[in-house]
Amino acid sequence: MNVSSQAWVVVADDASIGGLLEAARPLGTSVVALVAGRREVADAVAAAGVDRVVWLGEPADGVPVAAYGAAVGRVVAAAAPRVVVGPATDAGRVLLGAVAAATGAVVLAGVSELSLDGEQIVVERAVSGGIALRRDRVVAGTAVVVVAPGGAVAGATPVAVEEVDPGPLLPLRVTDRRVTPRAGVDLGSAKTVVGVGRGLKAREDLALIEDLAAAAGGELACSRPLAEGVDWVGKERYLGISGQTISPDLYVAVGISGQIQHMVGVREAKTIVAVNSDPHAPVFRECDYGIVGDLYTVVPILAEAFRAARS
Ligand SMILES: Cc1cc2nc3c(=O)[nH]c(=O)nc-3n(C[C@H](O)[C@H](O)[C@H](O)COP(=O)(O)OP(=O)(O)OC[C@H]3O[C@@H](n4cnc5c(N)ncnc54)[C@H](O)[C@@H]3O)c2cc1C
Repeated sequence: MNVSSQAWVVVADDASIGGLLEAARPLGTSVVALVAGRREVADAVAAAGVDRVVWLGEPADGVPVAAYGAAVGRVVAAAAPRVVVGPATDAGRVLLGAVAAATGAVVLAGVSELSLDGEQIVVERAVSGGIALRRDRVVAGTAVVVVAPGGAVAGATPVAVEEVDPGPLLPLRVTDRRVTPRAGVDLGSAKTVVGVGRGLKAREDLALIEDLAAAAGGELACSRPLAEGVDWVGKERYLGISGQTISPDLYVAVGISGQIQHMVGVREAKTIVAVNSDPHAPVFRECDYGIVGDLYTVVPILAEAFRAARS
């Protein structure tokens, strides 16, 4: 399929598209934004530094973005751009999936680097849980690339918003919305975080770690197996590549081996202290202070030390 040298950006209902534009700009001779959302989103995108804005009209009440999937696919397929960039959000994934189906394009998700080599798109992304980088090259046709949407955009002189008829929408309606109460933990802003791993022998021993976290004035966190394996700790508390990333002043890793998938979530901590009975545990290569010992002995002593220091 012959493709044009344009880069298209697919926007759902959020105009914070800094990351999309940053990815798309170097890849196309011009950047066209296709907005499947409210007019105010289209207006904001029109002032974000794009060359054209195509808008699919005001969604009726209760019509979700997903209903625009086929329409977005049709419009993009008619333009046949070299690359289509969209956000790694629920709505973004639905629209990009439809674009891929309509254009027969390859979808590349989790992309960290994008570049153009002649007419070919080259993408780089982390694989195998973050321990390796892989480079792919789209040798023909359209590439559909999913990236982090990024934040706000610097204002630019607005371009006109071109409204096009979306044609028939997919038969989908929102019939009910219920807000799920969120567990009240904010690891992102905690100054001290105590993470526990599989070194813990039993669920009831969590009290020991909770006591340490309380003594240190911090929050409890964990490695993935404790949240998704044995389910001793809530999923909102696990750290790492597939969990949360934190940057506290102090991170204490207790009974955690220090696999890369965990450590990428805590590396930004100013100080890392590790407690592990295995002197060869990888965590000791990444911490500022390492205590080789049985957590059942070390943790109560640490808790007392924190209490004394904070009283
Ligand atoms: C695609 C993918 C994504 C992943 N994402 C994540 C992620 O986001 N977050 C995450 O955490 N993991 C993630 N993992 C899993 C990760 O690879 C590790 O398996 C996990 O982090 C190990 O958890 P752990 O350190 O608690 O357990 P283990 O590796 O089993 O380590 C337990 C440690 O406890 C020590 N220990 C045992 N007894 C004691 C004791 N009495 N006192 C002191 N120390 C003791 C042991 O020496 C050992 O070092 C991912 C894996 C994959 C493949």
